[in-house]
Amino acid sequence: PMRQAIHNLEASKIREVANAGLGRDDVLAFWFGESDEVTPDFIRQAAIDSLQRGETFYAHNLGLPELREAVASYTSRLHPAVDVGRIAITSGGVSALMLAVQAVVNAGDEVVAITPVWPNLTAQPAIMGAQVRCVPLVPVNGEWTLDLDAVRAAVTPTTKLLIVNAPNNPTGWTMSSAEQQALLDHCRSTGTWILADEVYERLYYEPTPNGCAPSFLDIAAPDERLIVAHSFSKSFLMTGWRLGWLVLPPALVDGMGKLIEFNTSCASVFTQRAGIAALTRTDEVTPRVVAHLKHCRDTLVPLLATVPGVRVASAKGGMYAFFQLDGASDSLDTAKRLVTEAGLGLAPGNAFAPEAQGWLRWCFASKDPQRLVQGVDRLKSWLARQ
Ligand code: PMP
Repeated sequence: PMRQAIHNLEASKIREVANAGLGRDDVLAFWFGESDEVTPDFIRQAAIDSLQRGETFYAHNLGLPELREAVASYTSRLHPAVDVGRIAITSGGVSALMLAVQAVVNAGDEVVAITPVWPNLTAQPAIMGAQVRCVPLVPVNGEWTLDLDAVRAAVTPTTKLLIVNAPNNPTGWTMSSAEQQALLDHCRSTGTWILADEVYERLYYEPTPNGCAPSFLDIAAPDERLIVAHSFSKSFLMTGWRLGWLVLPPALVDGMGKLIEFNTSCASVFTQRAGIAALTRTDEVTPRVVAHLKHCRDTLVPLLATVPGVRVASAKGGMYAFFQLDGASDSLDTAKRLVTEAGLGLAPGNAFAPEAQGWLRWCFASKDPQRLVQGVDRLKSWLARQ
């Protein structure tokens, strides 16, 4: 029989809602975490050129040297300089995260995750046979905040790994540098690894000098127990390409090469060529994407806030409005009803943590912000019919 840890994995509640809308083309879908905008032409062209040159072979486990260089210099523009030797290219952010967990977590280990969070982040250590403990963020007037003392109480010398995702999917919560410093100090004292999922670092709407959310890379030394996971999916509109990277302490790099060999062997070369194009011309993509997402957020959130029974705060980062709806005591049931009765596709809050029961996630990455306005209308008239 299959391992118990796999048997116990929960099926995706977001998929369950999407399945309720199968075969219906009148549903306005905001349930998945991706933009509906196609990858920019010049990035696609780089992949086409690569294929036309006949680059159809295996690559180095850690990635093309040119892409690793491009990632190192991109990272070093946003953060203190990172040596190219610390970069590993992966087949998507999700694979980056799984590899990180495989690298440090043993069966039976204790892992702490800050939630609500994208469910993959808690499933991955569970797949390794770890015990995952969740420390919930605390909602204050619709805005989620970190209870540092709760994390300090949960992370002890027996905790192998702390998993943090900020800017956060689904809540939009971001960490201050001071909070990161406090977690880093605490994890130094307990000998705990930190896995920082920073895939949304560029989707940050607060004013900053570098257009980037606070990062653990800004404060940690290269050889600390810190692994940072990244993705091309969000900042470069490349979800379907499956390309990401890890920033590792030097001592983990050789082992990571082996792990990549046994997982995927390498990211495909034409995809990596697209990644090089994206990073070398990032200023042609990311600032525009971020400005558009901010416009989407600022279209959706104030409108949602006027809907009776909705409590919502403006996310500082990410691409989601996470809101509380009075009467939605079973988020999954509400989300399914919204699909079938209102033609509105949202993700249920309890997909991300039990404490987010009664919340719904709305991905606002919509090329046409009018879709968001239409969605709010559908929500309003559905509520009026209840
Ligand atoms: N981390 C978080 C928090 C995410 O929301 C996602 C995408 N939904 C990922 C990682 C992974 O993205 P990808 O695998 O597309 O790179």
